[in-house]
Amino acid sequence: MSQFVDLILPLPLDNRFTYVVTNEEAEFIQEGMRLAVPFGKNRIYTGIVAKIHGTPPEVYEAKPIHQIIDDTPLLTHNQLKFWNWIASYYLCTEGDVMRAALPGAFLLESESVVKLSSEVKIEDEMLTDDEYLVTEALQRQSSMKIQEIEQLLDRKKVLPIINKLVAKNLVELNQEIYEQFKPKEVRYVSLNPMYEAEAEMHGLLDELSKAPKQREALLSYFSLTAKSRKALKLKELSNASGVSANVIKGLIQKEILIEEYRSTDRIQFNSEISNHEINFSSEQQRAFTEITENFAEDNVCLLHGVTSSGKTEIYIKLIEAALEKDKQSLYLLPEIALTTQLIKRLQDYFGDKVLVYHSKYSVNERVEIYKHVKENKDKGKIVIGARSCIFLPFQDLGLIVVDEEHEATFKQFDPAPRYHARDAAVVLANIFQANIVLGSATPSVESYFNAVHSKYALVELHSRFGNVLMPEVEVVDIKTAHKKKKMTGHFSERMIEEIESSLKENEQVILFQNRRGFSPILECNTCGHSPQCPNCDVSLTYHSHNNQLRCHYCGYHIAMQHQCMACGSNEITTKGFGTEQVETELKALFPKYSIGRMDQDTTRGKYAYEKIIEAFENHETDILIGTQMLSKGLDFRKVSLVGIMNADNLLNFPDFRAHERSFQLMLQVAGRSGRTKKRGKVLIQSYNPHHQIIQQVSTSAYKEMYEEQLEDRYQYQYPPFYRLVRLTLKSRDFSKTNEAAEWLARALENVFDRYVLGPEFPPVARIRNEYYKNILIKIPQKQNLGKTKAMISRILKSYQAIGAFRSVRVITNVDPQ
Ligand code: ADP
Ligand code: ZN
Ligand code: ZN
Repeated sequence: MSQFVDLILPLPLDNRFTYVVTNEEAEFIQEGMRLAVPFGKNRIYTGIVAKIHGTPPEVYEAKPIHQIIDDTPLLTHNQLKFWNWIASYYLCTEGDVMRAALPGAFLLESESVVKLSSEVKIEDEMLTDDEYLVTEALQRQSSMKIQEIEQLLDRKKVLPIINKLVAKNLVELNQEIYEQFKPKEVRYVSLNPMYEAEAEMHGLLDELSKAPKQREALLSYFSLTAKSRKALKLKELSNASGVSANVIKGLIQKEILIEEYRSTDRIQFNSEISNHEINFSSEQQRAFTEITENFAEDNVCLLHGVTSSGKTEIYIKLIEAALEKDKQSLYLLPEIALTTQLIKRLQDYFGDKVLVYHSKYSVNERVEIYKHVKENKDKGKIVIGARSCIFLPFQDLGLIVVDEEHEATFKQFDPAPRYHARDAAVVLANIFQANIVLGSATPSVESYFNAVHSKYALVELHSRFGNVLMPEVEVVDIKTAHKKKKMTGHFSERMIEEIESSLKENEQVILFQNRRGFSPILECNTCGHSPQCPNCDVSLTYHSHNNQLRCHYCGYHIAMQHQCMACGSNEITTKGFGTEQVETELKALFPKYSIGRMDQDTTRGKYAYEKIIEAFENHETDILIGTQMLSKGLDFRKVSLVGIMNADNLLNFPDFRAHERSFQLMLQVAGRSGRTKKRGKVLIQSYNPHHQIIQQVSTSAYKEMYEEQLEDRYQYQYPPFYRLVRLTLKSRDFSKTNEAAEWLARALENVFDRYVLGPEFPPVARIRNEYYKNILIKIPQKQNLGKTKAMISRILKSYQAIGAFRSVRVITNVDPQ
């Protein structure tokens, strides 16, 4: 009797695919293993065994497999369960999930590209004959496809050979798309051991009497390292001695000091774990106890604690408790690049038990982390990272922390699976019977609703740690200020005064402007024309640093125009303003101070974020201007003023979440101010100073905001009262897109009636020459979700069967953000 295996293939197939295996194979194969299988014409893919059984497929004849790749399962049973949930909840295929969940190196397929690993030296005696042939060929040609290797070795089954080479770290797969992640390097100096002895030291100082600055620097070095002659950060030495880095360079050239670069990562791991005891405040202690009690009853906890209330310390203690039970912890963050500060805090406490899963890591590094987590030894106990961490192969997960749970970046936008990592984490915790805490100073309306309605437990922290006061918020009416001519560019008189007084006190300032670029839009005063992107339905944005007009959707750019492209008039003005313009105006207002800018344009390079954040931390910059990147959990000590340049463009965004988002963003940015003893200040400039959201921000009235938003959501039938599924149709053909959208909307209306909205063009209806049209389906709470989704899938199937619409793709987004 034949045996069959159902495989998940990394392809957008609706179903698993069944293959036939021999009895010997069947004995060896286990659920979660990878098999290489033929699919389509001459193509080989890696599939995951989801099920082993004795029933042949009904509609096709099962093909035999190509080979077994793994000795032991790569995936756990729980992962397969989780994948299945994601696929069915988010209306995508298990193949979509597989592509997102597994590091590319695990997905051998005929198109995979193999390269020699860059770091390793090859010792021939380590290799089998076949391995030798492959590595030798790779020395001659930099990369090869699997098929080419099959030809080289003149045999069909080469995947085990390649896998062995990958395991030995000799070759890399699909590497070129990824950049190797390299930890940031810091310059250190130390005394040349030649001069260690007392006598030598004195001689040296005599010698330097003609170079007084160098002598001074050396004396500083001696006093700073009096206890032990260790290496010092160059910057530290320069600050302490008051001499410039150039003077120290002189000492390096004379070989008196020796220069050395160390990666900050390595430093953290070498330094002893500082494991400073955490002494909770009584409020933290109460919250911690409440959370622990709720965990005992298997409740999901929502931790609502104002900014700087010490939530992180609570998470650390919860992780410690999980560790004591020998359980794994997962710490989810909206964005890993912005959280060097937090990672450092965790590593200081837990040392190298903390694994960081970084999107900048190379494929091989991801594989390494995957293995650590699967082995669940010391190193795999604590994982911190962004949303895709939920796909790691946890063995014994005990705790999930979802930090800043309100952040929209937890939702994957493109490609499928379009999952929400916070919501998926709740399911994941359930699969493991693990504890989960969602934390935020500004919880999402959905999560707070769940807490209020006893689906989650609510734990609150009302005050900042160390009795630091919440910042004082002042709203500046710039409409009146304009009338009274009390504006300099985009700065009100009050804003300038406050910046001045902070700088005078040697404190730092953060200015928030939710747009990058200079003056977003160019407009002709004569005919009203603004230059448009030819590929997208948006106006081009002016960037002063390279004097360009750019499209923020597709990157199209042209030189700045000084005449109207429509009527030729010279009268061109700019409308709106961005971070770059704030910077330019600020430089004119405060020429003596150093100004930093953090937005998508200044943070493209590697470590660009880190550099900007570090410079601000070290007080090398006095004022930091930025977009919403600034709102993400940064903890600066000397910021006494946060200025929000214009609250209105946030509030006017056409989206049902715009008000909630504005509140969260403004309150989070405000939270960067006054995190130490002195009370901080926040200035909000607005044309609508009486807008309810601005009022709620200025009094930190979260509950009021929540109740008001909830009322609106109820009125207009939005989450949490209704669930949403958005279908987006797109194609290069305008009328086809329209026709297809009409057809689909009518078909849906037949079933869901008035709960279908659209088809409707989104605010930007064309991007890269593709037209977009949306249909929104609202699902009332009492309506069965599973059945509804099954119905949507069925309608999509009949849609896909229509030949005329083949060129119009449909993107399904469950719970769109
Ligand atoms: P949140 O995450 O709620 O915004 P943080 O955890 O960043 O707040 O805490 C704010 C500041 O207070 C941090 O600098 C943190 O180190 C400090 N802090 C919080 N709890 C304690 C504690 N128990 N002992 C010492 N410092 C603490
Ligand atoms: Zn014109
Ligand atoms: Zn464009």
